[in-house]
Amino acid sequence: MPNASPSIHSLVSQHVQPLANYNAGLSLEELKKRYNVTKIAKLASNENPFGTPEAVANVLNDAGNLAYYPDPNCTELRELLAQKFNVDAQSLVFGNGSEDIISILCRVFLEAGDNVLTIVPSFGLHILYPQSCGANVLIAEMTDSLEFDIEKIVQLLQSHQPKLFFIASPSNPVGTALNGGQIQTILDALSDKTLLVFDEAYYEYAQTDADYPDVQQILEHSGKPYILLRTLSKAYSLAGLRVGYGICSEPSIAGYIDKLRTPFNVNRIAQKAAVAALNDTTHLEKTLTWNTQARPTLLEQLNELGISAAPSHGNFLFFKTDFPATELAEELLKHGVIIKPWLEKGYENYLRVSIGTQDENEHFLAALKTIINA
Ligand SMILES: *Cc1c(COP(=O)(O)O)cnc(C)c1O
Repeated sequence: MPNASPSIHSLVSQHVQPLANYNAGLSLEELKKRYNVTKIAKLASNENPFGTPEAVANVLNDAGNLAYYPDPNCTELRELLAQKFNVDAQSLVFGNGSEDIISILCRVFLEAGDNVLTIVPSFGLHILYPQSCGANVLIAEMTDSLEFDIEKIVQLLQSHQPKLFFIASPSNPVGTALNGGQIQTILDALSDKTLLVFDEAYYEYAQTDADYPDVQQILEHSGKPYILLRTLSKAYSLAGLRVGYGICSEPSIAGYIDKLRTPFNVNRIAQKAAVAALNDTTHLEKTLTWNTQARPTLLEQLNELGISAAPSHGNFLFFKTDFPATELAEELLKHGVIIKPWLEKGYENYLRVSIGTQDENEHFLAALKTIINA
């Protein structure tokens, strides 16, 4: 980021001044320009490798009059999801991506000095947005074997009663997921001073694993306040259009979020596309079938290179090498491969790679092999 002049710097909120920049990675266009590569495997953001679903492509020209504002209530999408998940339509919230909902949640609930709990390694926005509101972010670091540290989580929930507890399960970046018993233990430790923000961005992928729990049902039965976040960005291939949703334990939570969101935060095309994507079971099945097959294959191939990766319930793997991650990622860029080096303290040798197409996965592996054997 460019340096701010002293006068601008002093005008910026004291909570925003020290924030880290979000690490969004390199775009295809930037990479092509920088290294003059033509063939690129973009495996840094857990996007769906199969591209825009055909059913979505078919409705893109059919989003109505774009001169008119979109439906502020996302009515068609709302009714579809209420029915699909058997929830009260008024308990649903929608965002310009689920990150939009995370940002709004922070502004609804947090005041300067409030405590927030989350996990490291983390989805960066679970830390950045609370900090932007002046919250104090407490961390329950994962164990050395990259599992959730349930004891630590319970202890911090009880000792600090944080206003918000952000947890992504399956974890991004690790991929590990809480089992039903662990979710129950966490719920039992929640006081009514804490709202649980359960980020299930990889829900559809995790669903294919027989041992993955029914998170929605466990939360519903708990009687505790929560918001369960999901997204159309990952398995449904809509990262470029930005649609996320949340299922709240009660309509009042949705009501407060609706007060603060921008009234038209999900655009006309995105609403139309989300409905089409949710109805396109063929694309979803193809996506999930491929992931179930390709993820263990890639894990094994990494193992064969002497690299261990955490078991994953998502469409990505988190792995460690002997090289500093930023250097390895930079070398991979020269081969046309974009993956995400981890920057958080203690994880500087870790990288996250998304499961791509067969061709992309092979491209990644070949480049990796060349680099680490050089
Ligand atoms: C990708 C991701 C999101 C963001 O999803 P959008 O709907 O694209 O904003 C949120 N949480 C986690 C854990 C993610 O991995």
